[in-house]
Amino acid sequence: MEQEVVESIQVEPGKVVFYCKDCEELVDTERCGRKYVYRCKKCDTKNVAFGTLKSVRGFFRLDEKEKQKRKAESQKAVEKK
Ligand SMILES: [Zn+2]
Repeated sequence: MEQEVVESIQVEPGKVVFYCKDCEELVDTERCGRKYVYRCKKCDTKNVAFGTLKSVRGFFRLDEKEKQKRKAESQKAVEKK
């Protein structure tokens, strides 16, 4: 059996996701009390925005960041050689 390639973001475009402005990525969150406040499980701040994947991606330009990340990683790989 072939193994599927696991993408970092594998949710549907219309699904609600949480984006931590401190981690600068999609994160898991914990809800704080009854208000619509969510705490990032990764860095523990409440600097979390949420919305559909489509809107969050567009607003924070995640696609561009991913591209930059990949570019930086590929450059690193070249440096190692
Ligand atoms: Zn965070």
